Formats: sequence, C-alpha cells, structure tokens
Amino acid sequence: MKKLLRLISLPLLLTAFTASAWDYAGHRTVNQLALQSLPADFPAFAKTPAARERIAFLAGEPDRWRNTQDHTLGHVNEPDHFFDLDYLAGFGLTAETISPFRYEFIGQLAAARAKKPDIEPIRDPAKDANFVRQFFGFLPWAINEHYSKLKSEFSYLKTFEAHGGTADEIRSAQENILYTMGVMGHYVGDLTQPLHTTKHFNGWLGDNPKDYTTWPRFHSWIDGGYLDKVGMKAEELYPKVRRAKPVADANSGNLGIFKPVMNVLVAQNRMVEPLYILNQRHKLSAEEDTAREGKAFLTEQLLKGGQFLGDIWLTAWQTAPEDKFLQSSLAKRKLKAGK
Ligand SMILES: [Zn+2]
Ligand SMILES: [Zn+2]
Repeated sequence: MKKLLRLISLPLLLTAFTASAWDYAGHRTVNQLALQSLPADFPAFAKTPAARERIAFLAGEPDRWRNTQDHTLGHVNEPDHFFDLDYLAGFGLTAETISPFRYEFIGQLAAARAKKPDIEPIRDPAKDANFVRQFFGFLPWAINEHYSKLKSEFSYLKTFEAHGGTADEIRSAQENILYTMGVMGHYVGDLTQPLHTTKHFNGWLGDNPKDYTTWPRFHSWIDGGYLDKVGMKAEELYPKVRRAKPVADANSGNLGIFKPVMNVLVAQNRMVEPLYILNQRHKLSAEEDTAREGKAFLTEQLLKGGQFLGDIWLTAWQTAPEDKFLQSSLAKRKLKAGK
C-alpha cells in the first residue's frame, strides 16, 4: 500500500487505504498461526483466550498508525513495513554488506549518494510530505529491534518472577510482552508478503520483457482482495502448523536476529517473479477453476510468516538472560524492607 500514493489518483487512493500490507485478516492470521505453533511449555499467560485475542488484534496496529495525518509519525512508520531489496545494488550494497544498525545503514546510503546523487529511488518533494521516498524501507531493522525489545521484556519478567517482583510488576511485564508480540507480528507478516520486498511492489516497474502486469491495484489485490474473494480462515491452516523452533544463529555478535531476518527476506524476494507468473497465468483471478493455485501460494506465505513469528517469540523467551541491573535493584529493595 505504502507507495500507491505515487501511482494512483485520489479516489482510488481512498479505496486503497482500506487495504494495506496483508489486510487485517491476513495479519491476524499470521499472529494466530504463530500462537498455534508455540510449544506446551511457553509461558501460559500468553495463551489465554484474552491474550490470544489481544495478540491477534495488535497484528493490525502498525497499519492503524498509518491512518494519522501526522507526517512525523508517517516518517518513522511507513518505511518500517517493507524493504525493496532490488534497490541495494544501485548503492553498491548487498544483503551481506548492509549494517544491522539502522542509522549506520542510512549513513551507508548517504555515502553512496554523496558520490552519485542520482541513485534510485529519488525523492519527489511534491509527493512526499513524510520525507521517506529517498529510502526504500527498514523492515528487517524494525523486526530485529522488536525482537530485542521482546527479549528485554522476557529478561525483566524472569527477574521479577525469581527475585521478589510484586504481582503488579509481574502483570505489567506480561502485558508489555503481549503488546510487543502482537505488534512485531505485523512486521513479520509483511516480511512474507513478497511485494513488500521489491520495487515491483505495485505492478512491474521499468523494463518489462516478460510483460508482467503493471496493474496499479495488484498490491492491494494480493494483500487481501483475492483471499477475501476466494475465502480463507486461519483455522484452515492450523493442521499445517509445525511446532516453533529456535531461530538459527540468533543473538550472534549481540546483533539479535538481523541476519536470519535478512535471509528470510532474500528468500521472499525470490517469490516475487513466481507471483507475477501466477498472475499472468490467471491463477489469481478468483474464478472457481483457477483460484486454487493462487490460494495455495498465498496461504503458504501466511504460514511462513506465522511459523517464523512463532520461532522468533520462542527464541526471545528462551534466550532472554536475567536482567542483572534489575536483580541488584530488587536485592537492595529487599534489604531496605528487611531493616
Ligand atoms: Zn502491502
Ligand atoms: Zn505493514
């Protein structure tokens, strides 16, 4: 949805605003699939019916932030939903050479532009009140930063539980965890929508030798229009869910899961052309006889998102160390109370 602004007229835009990223239904599904994947020993407070509903509801939160008129929020929120991998090469960068530090990465882009000012994407001030079009997304950074926040929250929860936290402190920690689990689920859902990993996010851009669609509503059709038409429920996918497992190479170099997330993003970017080919072969047309293949493709993407999200939650919980600073504060508090 993000950059539809560039391409379509206002009346179309207003309709398009009802459908962004996966639609709410798709994002809810991703969070529900992740919940479904959690093993029996995952903390029970996250699995009550109320907690499940809260986590599912929060899947839509970063899209709700888009509905504000405030450009300053748009500035930080909008690019967190995507990363157009195809633009990296123009900056002399690769998935391996980009920095996992968000501001350092912005510096890498600036350094390349200082040498060659016309590297795409180029910002058009008339169409970009949010000041974001010179970038091409921060999705992997957004996911990784949320992962580290979640790990921090599990750290202080474990410490409160083990070293005399009050019932209020433990409950607050648990509520923060549910919030972060839910919100980060949105971004992991975006990660497995292939059109959130490419400059061809909304119809094929530029050279088009294979004659792929340039339809300006292709993105919103994939985000939700098609699945809404053919019908899809999270429960249909539950039998396919495997148990969550630790994310390989998590926490190496204290850099969270940036590398594993980039690996997933690169794999999703490879699904872009197959998606355009499906469309070309009319497998995404929502007609009874042709719809099955498109539905299988897209529900597989939702499933990938849900599984990866469950793996990330599990890893954050399992690898969160105790919070040493909090531990000593709690020890001091105990001493003081004992006097
Ligand atoms: Zn989208
Ligand atoms: Zn999004």
